[in-house]
Amino acid sequence: MKAITVEPKKPGTAKLMDFPEPDLREGSVLVEAVAVGVCGTDVEIVEGKYGWAPPGQKHLILGHESLGRVIDPGSSGLKKGDLVVGIVRRPDPVPCPNCAVGEWDMCRNGLYTERGIKEIHGYMSERWRIEPEYAIKIDPSLGILGVLLEPTTVVTKALEQIGMIGRRSFWEPSVVLVTGAGPIGLLAALSLKIWGAEEIHVLDRMETGSKPDLVRAIGATYHSGRVADLGFEPDAIVECTGVGQVIADSIQKVGANGIVCLTGVGHGGVMTGVALADVAAAAVLRNNVIVGSVNANKRHWYRAGQTLAKADHNWLAKLITRREKPENFVNALERQPDDIKVVIQFSEV
Ligand code: BGC
Repeated sequence: MKAITVEPKKPGTAKLMDFPEPDLREGSVLVEAVAVGVCGTDVEIVEGKYGWAPPGQKHLILGHESLGRVIDPGSSGLKKGDLVVGIVRRPDPVPCPNCAVGEWDMCRNGLYTERGIKEIHGYMSERWRIEPEYAIKIDPSLGILGVLLEPTTVVTKALEQIGMIGRRSFWEPSVVLVTGAGPIGLLAALSLKIWGAEEIHVLDRMETGSKPDLVRAIGATYHSGRVADLGFEPDAIVECTGVGQVIADSIQKVGANGIVCLTGVGHGGVMTGVALADVAAAAVLRNNVIVGSVNANKRHWYRAGQTLAKADHNWLAKLITRREKPENFVNALERQPDDIKVVIQFSEV
């Protein structure tokens, strides 16, 4: 079968190649790939900055934002033709206490594995196998939109973290700011809407294009300036850019008892003129929390599935701005100005 692979930590090694059929040890459910979303993590892996091949192997099959159709359900209870999405992370083998109770997203020893990222093959191959307990069946009416489930799980976990932290005191979050109107930011705004947040603001550097319209279509307010210039103090900020200035501004802008949840993974961005002790003092004097959030466990996958099923499918469809064939995967990895979510489509839904 054809698979899109990379030799991790070696830039320029991504290729579409012939690869052996998936091993039965990867799971009893055999799936035909429909589509795989591309995200910043995939770009980092292709650039040789991140990613690990399975032990003893040279290549890693890329892709963690999956959507596929069951070809052979084995004894899983799934049916042939069901649309499924594969969970990304697997618990560490020790296991640490969190992995032992199914909270692999909170793994403590770093020995977890991740499909398409860390030591287990991903979903960018014509066929893949999965363990039944890691296959999430999606609402069939979603069709190709099911490929948005994985990024929605990341957002679902982040919002859960904010909700849990907020309950340390009497707290009625009404004004929430999302920084970045990429797929994660837009899905965060959507989830907040479904969550019932009163006032949702989304800030992005783009001034035109589809992002402002998508934000307004869900009743949220769009901003294109700097966080520091906003005329209000959000109760919570979901930071989805990973950009140093946006992070620094967010920490200083959030209101009393506020929470800044960091979901973006950036690099560098050395800040000058930010007096860290002053930033910390503001956080102390206002009881603020800065929290990082990564990955998602089964509870978040379940909730994210509910969010997508409830969402306006026409709105969701506008997030998928480009579909590329596997042989054109290089184009899929190159960002274009109007891109939101680019997917590599292996077969028709
Ligand atoms: C994925 C997560 C993963 C993280 C770190 C993200 O792109 O969505 O599932 O945990 O990268 O590897």
